[in-house]
Amino acid sequence: MYYLLSITEVFKNNFNFYKEYFVQQIQNPAWDNPFYIIPVICLLTFLLELFLPRKLEYKPLSRKGFTLDLFYVIFFDYLILLFGFFAFASTTEYLFKEFLGLFGVSDYILFDIKKLPFIFQFLIIFLLLDFLQWFGHFLLHRIDFLWQFHKIHHAQEELGFASTRHFHWVEYFVFKPLLFLPFMFMNFSVSEFVALYLWIGYGFTFFSHCNIRVNWNWLNYILITPETHYWHHAKTLPNRYGVNFASTTTLWDHIFGFFYLPKDKGQPILGVDDQEIIPKTFFGQMIHPFKVVFSKSKRKNALSRAEKRRRRKKK
Ligand SMILES: [Zn+2]
Ligand SMILES: [Zn+2]
Repeated sequence: MYYLLSITEVFKNNFNFYKEYFVQQIQNPAWDNPFYIIPVICLLTFLLELFLPRKLEYKPLSRKGFTLDLFYVIFFDYLILLFGFFAFASTTEYLFKEFLGLFGVSDYILFDIKKLPFIFQFLIIFLLLDFLQWFGHFLLHRIDFLWQFHKIHHAQEELGFASTRHFHWVEYFVFKPLLFLPFMFMNFSVSEFVALYLWIGYGFTFFSHCNIRVNWNWLNYILITPETHYWHHAKTLPNRYGVNFASTTTLWDHIFGFFYLPKDKGQPILGVDDQEIIPKTFFGQMIHPFKVVFSKSKRKNALSRAEKRRRRKKK
């Protein structure tokens, strides 16, 4: 009971702290202010879609799901990421410290990254974050339970800059706070992590969903681009679990053999196999994966009960 109270307290404090920060962000426009940087990134990527030749034959504003995607941007970037995520990540940090405390560990910093020159700090943090994002994304495809939630992102038939935030909230609350844990051991705070995450993650993910046709050439092999990410969204996957899981660099896709960029195959058809059963509304999409997971586990339990009965009869 005491624990429950203190967890609620930690969440509340962090939520209030971030609420104040949020208000302060609105009142003080600046080039590094997330409140303003998000619409700027949206505008820049939207202009790219308008002025560069389109990759698929639909217009940026009239493509399928554009309004819904914009709602997702507001929902995740302003309501979830800028509020709930910070409080959630801080509560996860607190719970983890408490957990270590059970084993008498109070000094959890294994290596103080702040003692290194800035360039090394940046490289280590950047590569680690890039790998964790890559691995988290791979798991979203590899584990069926998680795939049911990630499928909401993949069920989009037409992509554009705003498609990047068309996600199920479970992805944020399960993965993102856990991404922070390794940074904690290196003397990196949640707020530093959130700021870094905003900077590194934002520009790239919005850009990778842009409906633009540019010959990215060698850049495709180094950084995530719309060319490679559209193949990640292909309805018919080039292999069982998917390809191109990158969120910033393609390094991990090359290392683990998931990089895919065919030379003469044109553009992939986007979406998932059971496209028709995915609801078209925001609330429908938020509930749908839970229904699938629940009915799958009910079916699994019924099957194992039937199997047990069959075995008993045999004996
Ligand atoms: Zn994916
Ligand atoms: Zn995507």
